[in-house]
Amino acid sequence: MSKNLIVGAGFSGAVLAFLIAEKLNEHVIVIDRRAHIAGNSFDYRDNNNIMIHKYGPHIFHTESEKVWNFLKPFCDFNQYMHKGYAIVDGIGISLPFNINTLYKIFPKTLALRLEEKLLDKFKYNTKVPISEFKNQDDKDLNFLANYIYEKIFLYYTIKQWGVTPEELDNSVTARVPVLIGRDDRYFQDKYQGIPLEGYTKLIENMLNHPNIEVILNTDFSQIKESFDKIFYTGSVDEYFNYEFGQLPYRSVYFKFEEKNCEYYQPNSIVNYPCNYDYTRINEYKHFLNDKSDKTVIAKEYSEFFEAGKNERFYPIPNTNNRNLYNKYLEKAQSINNVYFLGRLGDYVYQNMDKAILRAINLFEDIYHQ
Ligand code: FAD
Ligand code: UDP
Repeated sequence: MSKNLIVGAGFSGAVLAFLIAEKLNEHVIVIDRRAHIAGNSFDYRDNNNIMIHKYGPHIFHTESEKVWNFLKPFCDFNQYMHKGYAIVDGIGISLPFNINTLYKIFPKTLALRLEEKLLDKFKYNTKVPISEFKNQDDKDLNFLANYIYEKIFLYYTIKQWGVTPEELDNSVTARVPVLIGRDDRYFQDKYQGIPLEGYTKLIENMLNHPNIEVILNTDFSQIKESFDKIFYTGSVDEYFNYEFGQLPYRSVYFKFEEKNCEYYQPNSIVNYPCNYDYTRINEYKHFLNDKSDKTVIAKEYSEFFEAGKNERFYPIPNTNNRNLYNKYLEKAQSINNVYFLGRLGDYVYQNMDKAILRAINLFEDIYHQ
């Protein structure tokens, strides 16, 4: 029987495990150094019966029918459509910054003038990354661009990444583009929602297969057997013993508070782009509309990853880090039958749907399925 080892029980590892077990009818061992499955998407119900996302709020959204159809047998989703919300100078505004936001912030005459100029310059519903939006010749639009850059992006990015937006790939801030439209949703993807029984259950269902054996609390370094194929979703620099140096990551930590009220804030996530040390406050019960007299919030803080102190959360996308990663990639491609994937294995800032798609595509490439 073929021997397959998957390192990491997050989405990347679980999807591959399922495909190998089901489509190839091969045995798969999945290990994770943590005490639970589901990687950073791990969630659990607390003593108030509120579903908590332990490693930060996770909202599923995708344009990919392939991913959506793949997930369907493992869970049902609700119809949660996230609306971004931020507090700027004490005013609650919608995010991404859109035409509605203009009217929340500015006097009506100015908002009208800005709207007219925006619609003159851009097609309705265009999404413009702030890195592009900053290049405005018109005086009013230049004022608006500076306002959005400073109030929404600059300080939030410094808090989140420890550097300014210019020191990162533009793709980072482009995740939250300026929207020349009135759609208040954070994502415009065709498919959106939260798994009704949570992400952990979804992944448990994927791993619940007679050909799959899950072993928790086990680090790859503890594995002494040899395998025909290894799929590694941990950090690629760690695999190679940091031969070329450490790949930098941001880590995140949460200060949880239980509140004696039904709701603390109007939204599941409220961003604080200008004030406070935390980036956002998450209130989890909004996602599944959990009923409880109490609520749980988490203030989210960011810091650099340091091995042994905290966990890797976000690869930091910039040219230097990509060059360093490329050295590991070259080395990874030179060894047979060890495949790297996932947020950590590919060193890529990717959402759950992209991690799932990458795992499906890798399976199809290797096995010509
Ligand atoms: P992970 O979930 O990180 O899983 C990797 C697993 O490998 C971990 O469990 C780890 O313990 C294990 N591992 C690593 N090294 C070893 C080793 N040496 N031995 C054994 N085990 C090991 N995506 C969205 O689509 N929507 C969102 O709203 C969203 N919000 C997010 C918020 C935050 C704060 C963060 C950090 C991420 C968010 N994401 C979101 C992204 C999402 O978490 C990832 O896309 C997804 O978790 C990637 O899955 P993965 O399996 O590649 O990695
Ligand atoms: N961002 C920002 N202000 C905000 C929201 C986002 O500056 O209010 C920037 C910031 O650099 C952040 C990036 O846009 O890291 C991506 O935001 P997103 O909400 O997608 O971050 P995630 O949920 O992945 O942490």
